[in-house]
Amino acid sequence: MSEVETYRDRARAWLASVEPRFGAAARLGLREDEDLALGRAYLRARYEAGFGGIDLPVEVGGQGLSAVHKRAFELEEIALGPPTVYFGISLGMPVPIVTRFASDRAWARERTIAALRGEEIWCQLFSEPAAGSDLAGVRLKAKRHGADWRLSGQKLWTSWAQYSDYGVILARSDPSAPKNKGLTYFWGDMRARGVTVRPIRLANAHHDVCEVFFDDVEVGDHQRLSEVGGGFSVAMATLMIERYLSRTAPGSGRRSISFCRLRGRPGSPAGRPSRTAASGR
Ligand SMILES: Cc1cc2nc3c(=O)[nH]c(=O)nc-3n(C[C@H](O)[C@H](O)[C@H](O)COP(=O)(O)OP(=O)(O)OC[C@H]3O[C@@H](n4cnc5c(N)ncnc54)[C@H](O)[C@@H]3O)c2cc1C
Repeated sequence: MSEVETYRDRARAWLASVEPRFGAAARLGLREDEDLALGRAYLRARYEAGFGGIDLPVEVGGQGLSAVHKRAFELEEIALGPPTVYFGISLGMPVPIVTRFASDRAWARERTIAALRGEEIWCQLFSEPAAGSDLAGVRLKAKRHGADWRLSGQKLWTSWAQYSDYGVILARSDPSAPKNKGLTYFWGDMRARGVTVRPIRLANAHHDVCEVFFDDVEVGDHQRLSEVGGGFSVAMATLMIERYLSRTAPGSGRRSISFCRLRGRPGSPAGRPSRTAASGR
């Protein structure tokens, strides 16, 4: 038996042991706030069992294993159906980017562990009303304010912003530079003064995407995750993770729909397709 198969067996045994507390049956009929609380408890248990941040480096609080180990775990986890959807974006893109690009390594480790334990949630603030596929068209302004920055503008379709503590933000720091050269990448505190989050009620009654408004929000220069004007390359690094996740995540596409048809979404009638846990979208 290969080392990954042994690991997968260990994952399966642990997941079976927590199924009564966190499995799909335990979630049925829960309100969203209850489901989120259960999700936080599941992430804490998963982290303490040694299955949190499987492919993240040990020095930032991960397990230092490969993407193959992570996928092996996820293939078992999807069958359990725990409430991980709220953390899909957070752990999928922003947290790995912070672990990679934040210069304060101690802070990055603290944030990563808090996110892996479900204590903190991150969102990804890229898309805007006029910047979706054309990400380099981002208009949210980042203006110098002494040594620091002030952000003003709007983001759109931000998944789970209403529950997020922090976000990664792509902003235009130089409107005179060519589109993809005038961007800078920051992390921001979602509870900072001037940040307003408005969940969007979708036609299917879900409200997992939001509009986020920035009104002269103070951001320190230490919150920069790219060179000034170098935000597009960090954004591309983020999207490369996202592309990989959405192609390979167990539960994506057809599998997710058939799974949800079988299991239903907590608090809603069975048969309504939900978003994939791994991508959070
Ligand atoms: C459920 C959900 C969750 C999301 N969560 C987040 C999030 O957390 N954070 C975030 O930043 N964003 C998020 N998004 C936004 C998502 O990344 C954007 O929807 C995506 O980038 C596409 O942008 P758009 O919707 O503005 O479409 P548009 O850019 O308007 O594109 C509409 C269509 O036109 C096509 N098109 C565009 N330009 C061209 C062209 N030049 N030639 C040919 N075809 C073209 C596109 O392929 C697409 O099919 C989310 C979106 C959804 C649906």
